[in-house]
Amino acid sequence: MRPSGSGGIVQGVGFRPHVWRLANELGLSGEIANDGDGVIITAWGDAAALATLCERIAAAPPPLALIVAVEREPLPGLPMSGAFRIGPSRSGAVSTAIAPDAAVCPDCLAELNDPTDRRYGHAFICCTNCGPRFSVLESLPYDRSGTSLAAFAPCPDCARDYRDPAGRRLHAQAIACPACGPRLWLEDSDGSVRTADPVREAALRLQRGDIVAIKGIGGFHLACDATSEAAVERLRRRKARPDKPLAVMARDLAQIRSFAEVSPEEEAMLRSPAAPVVLLPRAGGRLAAAIAPGLDRIGVLLPNTPLHHLLLAAHAGPVVLTSANRSSEPQVTDNADARQRLIGIADSWLMHDRAIVNRVDDSVVRQDAHGSTMLRRARGFVPAPVAGGFDVASSVLAMGGEQKSSFCLVRQGMAYPSAPMGDLEDAGCFAAYRQTLAHWCELFRFRPEVIAVDQHPDYLSTQWGQALADTTGARLVRVQHHHAHLASCLAEHGLTPGNERSIGIILDGLGLGQGGTLWGGEVLVGGYAEVHRVAHLLPVALPGGARAVREPWRNAIAHLAAAFGEGWLDQIHGLPLADHLASRPVEPLLRMIALKLNAPPASSAGRLFDAVAALVGISPLEQSYEGQAAARLEALARPHLDAAGAYPVAIETATDPHILSFAPLWAALLEDMHRAVPPGMIAARFHRGLAAALTKEAVRAAGRFGCERVVLSGGVLQNAVLAELLRETLTGEGLRTLLHTRVSPGDEGLSVGQAAIAALTPAR
Ligand code: ZN
Ligand code: ZN
Ligand code: FE
Repeated sequence: MRPSGSGGIVQGVGFRPHVWRLANELGLSGEIANDGDGVIITAWGDAAALATLCERIAAAPPPLALIVAVEREPLPGLPMSGAFRIGPSRSGAVSTAIAPDAAVCPDCLAELNDPTDRRYGHAFICCTNCGPRFSVLESLPYDRSGTSLAAFAPCPDCARDYRDPAGRRLHAQAIACPACGPRLWLEDSDGSVRTADPVREAALRLQRGDIVAIKGIGGFHLACDATSEAAVERLRRRKARPDKPLAVMARDLAQIRSFAEVSPEEEAMLRSPAAPVVLLPRAGGRLAAAIAPGLDRIGVLLPNTPLHHLLLAAHAGPVVLTSANRSSEPQVTDNADARQRLIGIADSWLMHDRAIVNRVDDSVVRQDAHGSTMLRRARGFVPAPVAGGFDVASSVLAMGGEQKSSFCLVRQGMAYPSAPMGDLEDAGCFAAYRQTLAHWCELFRFRPEVIAVDQHPDYLSTQWGQALADTTGARLVRVQHHHAHLASCLAEHGLTPGNERSIGIILDGLGLGQGGTLWGGEVLVGGYAEVHRVAHLLPVALPGGARAVREPWRNAIAHLAAAFGEGWLDQIHGLPLADHLASRPVEPLLRMIALKLNAPPASSAGRLFDAVAALVGISPLEQSYEGQAAARLEALARPHLDAAGAYPVAIETATDPHILSFAPLWAALLEDMHRAVPPGMIAARFHRGLAAALTKEAVRAAGRFGCERVVLSGGVLQNAVLAELLRETLTGEGLRTLLHTRVSPGDEGLSVGQAAIAALTPAR
């Protein structure tokens, strides 16, 4: 019997002791052993007991195991005598997946809090059901010598636990106890070190408003008291992060309920072994307002390491927990680096000597009406595969995009995306990206035969992919940005070539389209092999290029000028935007647009959101993080949706592709502004207008191409209000919708789409 198949996770997750217990319970003889492809169980006994064994393995595997297939065949020869046992590992190429890191399990948590247990209060307690995995992994196969735990020789007691098949720590590679495990200490910026009760001291410092750097499972975090406005403001100032929302860690669900609403599905996500940040509706005013300015959702997580549990038991309230880095740099993972780079940001450092080998930031998920949406896929999910069962033999490497870039390996028909690594234009992020890629190739013994890149020649990921193709001789495939978004959603849902053709509503910031134009608001029809563009938003100038992404007022002017021509300024007379523009170089900007100088036209949905946000008064002059204006517009709209009608959008159908244009929308919106309609109502009408127009186009495309499935993807569809409106209106028209759940709709998910296109499309 073979309960894995490639891509499953059955090693390092307590699978063998689990089966050992089951088999002994059922009175079977035989053995279980790891091999390169998974585990092999040879078992003898009566037929009913053997069937029960197979059923129970498939139905109730250990918590961190992932079973892809259970294959069963009769055994030749005589039965093995004696009791069922755990056999020695057989060598061979390793093709089972590596388990992601997992939050402390309930059994370890009970021991952590039990004064009679020898691991009482030990910040590194773990077992085969929980603890660090990928983050400490240097090489395969997964055993202690290939992890950063190799530096700690187990004491005799731990060595006994490690060999005991009846316990939870049989072959638990990260096994540790106070006698032999890693050490914890608290350090000050002057280098002084405190080893006596560092957790209690850290808690006291948090209470007095300090910022404490804490070594987490996949990187350092910065923590401060989440109820203190002054502490949160200080953290923002020091980290140079003025507005971007911060995550909050709470000790338990009761504490979360004191500031947020939690549904049963959200509770399950919070408590899952991945223990991600979950975006929850804010309720009650207990947290500092500066945590998520202008937003109605708040990112919350439960403690995921024993250290977090100990710290939150000692500190009464919730804490802000944000990845430790300067603005756009990668998260700090190394002790020496933490001391150096966080100087001037942190007041003290709660750290230890278990090295982090692989950086994995916190994951972020949200529960929506259609199910969960993955907003950042990292700790607890990476490096497990997201999609698979594809009938492809070739090894594909997809390089991803430019911002929040991830790469993705396809091996033996399974897709393994990396965690996102930030904006590659930051030198530190690009270095981390190349380093991580090199490590993954080594770890998985992976040599790409095909390399997929975005069509944009300036993306550093594209250039690096080209360089790799040159040196390895791999075939290079260029994939259009929005085609990749569409394909990423098809692939995560396991749609196979021939059955995957869909309509795609792809709403995005910017991506290079066909013919050198910039796209970002597209209705496509197609599948892995090709797409056809059936409709798009009216291309509007992007005055100043990249600056238009940071400064929403530029998009407002471009959109108003496109809608009203020269008379656009009269339209905003007396509105707040007119005052804001008084201090801006409006005339030069208009000349740039007229002369088409550094003002490329773009059919971007993201920039349309920026323009609307600027008009209703949301960060009109500058946004400090990508998508800020859109996120705040979404929050404003939410309470008004039921009462709001839709703004009209004009659809030009004489052209191919059709063009959605916004002159009537702007006219109605400006009329509302002049009548002092509340901004939330205006935001809601805008969302409804856009959803209605896109739905009309999807319905037309459905009729024309005989398709009834609509994929919703692209960074703008991280907006839950827009995604849900589209889902409702499309479903109302009898169409089926397909949304992301395991891969991000944003550019982080591009690599999965690129990989699917390159893997599933015959060589072009
Ligand atoms: Zn455990
Ligand atoms: Zn020990
Ligand atoms: Fe994109």
